[in-house]
Amino acid sequence: MDIRLEGVAKRYGDTDVVADLDLSLSSGRVVALLGPSGCGKTTTLRMMAGLERLSRGRLWLGDTLVDDAGATFVPPEGRGLGMVFQSYALWPHKSVADNVAYPLSLRGIGGTQRRDLAMAGLERVRLAHLADRMPHQLSGGQQQRVAVARAVVGDGVHSPPILLLDEPLANLDAKLREEMRGELSTLARTSGATVVAVTHDQQEAFAIADDVVVLNQGRLAQQGSPEDIYLRPDTPFVGAFGGPMYFVPATLDVDEVRVGETRIPRRDVHVGGGVGNGPISLGVRPEWLRTGVADGVDVVVLQRLFLGREHELRVTVTSTTTTLLLRWPSLTPPPAIGEHLQVLPTRAVAFSV
Ligand code: ADP
Ligand code: MG
Repeated sequence: MDIRLEGVAKRYGDTDVVADLDLSLSSGRVVALLGPSGCGKTTTLRMMAGLERLSRGRLWLGDTLVDDAGATFVPPEGRGLGMVFQSYALWPHKSVADNVAYPLSLRGIGGTQRRDLAMAGLERVRLAHLADRMPHQLSGGQQQRVAVARAVVGDGVHSPPILLLDEPLANLDAKLREEMRGELSTLARTSGATVVAVTHDQQEAFAIADDVVVLNQGRLAQQGSPEDIYLRPDTPFVGAFGGPMYFVPATLDVDEVRVGETRIPRRDVHVGGGVGNGPISLGVRPEWLRTGVADGVDVVVLQRLFLGREHELRVTVTSTTTTLLLRWPSLTPPPAIGEHLQVLPTRAVAFSV
């Protein structure tokens, strides 16, 4: 089911925590709402769920106008959504199967039908063998999967056309979170639902989503594929939020970009709409920088850290005093602090200044 927001705002006191939000999320897609803490992700999700009313604008689920910040308001139970919230709140005194079956009980489904549907939900998350355990007997990751199973079971007749997940992996430790990413991605894709997953973790967003919506201070910063957000950010904010990005003053010309005396072919640089020739800020990521070149940008090594997989070198561009980060293979002895190197971006992004 499509989700559409038009001019949506949410006001608390005298602050708009969400403002001017236009979004169109297509049916069956897995969408990540990504942004720093406090940017309005949860508020946006809660408006979709009907747990918060819009202050301005309109919200459609499929063809149904569910909130117009006025007379029209369809409550959560009328929206047919599945939800998993940050604190996934399993009932501590109910077994795993009874937790998953609980929404079915509320809809008057009982007996073996209820048990069968709950077991089918648990099979989806590969936890059927733990159906009779109590929540405290499960790991954090397993509890999380039970919450997901409960959301996908829906009303037992229809699986929910929209699944809303708020920081679904946030309560897990780093290793488990990485493992669960793959599972969540598979589950989201096979659910057939439009899935909206809130996260502040860009890698999680890239890994699970077809479309990424980046929010900044309650406003839409960019919507695109994970590759768009990482390789072709519209703004330095999106660039830096997508992963380490460093900015160097440069000049954009018809067929090249100049950093001091160094020339970079313009075809290696993403130049978005609205970026004109002249002074720019050039955004580069550590893995886009090549060393051991003859006519690159001169940098001096400030600091080096051995990270196992690689060395991380912090360097200063001598002509501008800007700092960059470089990756250096762990099998090659790295340059000493104070040593000069030449670096050349194989890829960069031009931003207006
Ligand atoms: P995120 O999920 O991106 O971290 P939230 O949507 O939870 O952000 O919050 C966005 C902003 O709205 C924050 O500044 C938060 O303090 C504020 N906020 C959220 N809920 C309320 C509320 N019920 N009353 C007042 N302010 C709120
Ligand atoms: Mg939140």
